[in-house]
Amino acid sequence: MDKKPRILLIYTGGTIGMVKDYESGALKAFDFNSLLLSIPELNQLDCQIESVSFDTPIDSSNMNPGHWANIVELIEANDSMYDGFVVLHGSDTMSYTASALSFMLENLTKPVILTGSQLPIGDLRTDAKENLITSIQLASLWKKGEPVIREVGLYFEYKLYRGNRTTKINAEHFQAFNSPNYPPLAESGVHLKVYNEFIAKPKTFKKLKVHKNMDANVAILKIFPGLGKSVLNSILNIRGLKALVLETYGAGNAPTQKWFLTELKNAIASGLHIVDVTQCSGGSVIMGQYETSDALKKMQIINGKDITTEAAITKLMYLLGSKVSPKLFKTIFETSLRGEMQ
Ligand code: ASP
Repeated sequence: MDKKPRILLIYTGGTIGMVKDYESGALKAFDFNSLLLSIPELNQLDCQIESVSFDTPIDSSNMNPGHWANIVELIEANDSMYDGFVVLHGSDTMSYTASALSFMLENLTKPVILTGSQLPIGDLRTDAKENLITSIQLASLWKKGEPVIREVGLYFEYKLYRGNRTTKINAEHFQAFNSPNYPPLAESGVHLKVYNEFIAKPKTFKKLKVHKNMDANVAILKIFPGLGKSVLNSILNIRGLKALVLETYGAGNAPTQKWFLTELKNAIASGLHIVDVTQCSGGSVIMGQYETSDALKKMQIINGKDITTEAAITKLMYLLGSKVSPKLFKTIFETSLRGEMQ
């Protein structure tokens, strides 16, 4: 590339741009443009950086599918002007947003990298500068006329991950994220090492297709010893519920009591899509490996394989929003669409 890559920073909120409220001492969102001025290091990067901010930056605990639609609209509107996007986001729901964006941005061929920090950028011991600077560098990498990263990534504490494979694992450590079932795409040490073999290789001739319709008539149920019939029944019969992520034990196992299986069977018969996802932080659902998952397999529960809960719930919203036919729903869910499952 002869000209410098153009990167658009999209500031949605999060600790990275927060300041302490003098009266209460609580962290609250701040005008990011003013903060950017206090990072002169950005001028040393070999790219052109511009930024755009949510009108009202948010703590990511307030993130919802409407905000995801705003982010993809910004990417769509600026796609022809920029070579890559860095989305600044609170860490609390960053893995949900990264997963959602991966589904909403079909045929993505350039980097969309989410990052944030555990400490505000103005803090002396902040992790924000490294996260921000390296994310911009990764988004600017270019080889043989193409961007090196061509998918939705999440960069935090020296590692770039596939966004829809991540989960937040720590509320205290700078290393706040993990990708238990997929290796990092890049690592920052003395050198910036990119692991090309793990990076998505999308078909470049297809045009970016943006999906904004996410159907949030979904729920997550984590099973536990002692889960009662009335609780299960109430959840399965929520009015308007279309799909459920069932967080099961180990390799996708669940109780074999008759009442439990009958409740699930009836719900499936009445049209509810149920996905079996493990509540373990790593590994995969293997339906039928134990007797305790065999019944689930027979009743046609969707196999979530090694998907994260974050990717499962957003994939459900995406498929429901795309009006996938009930007949094809299970097959399509069980197919990896953006590298989110094996
Ligand atoms: N509560 C903050 C948020 O998710 C935490 C962070 O930014 O890391 O917006």
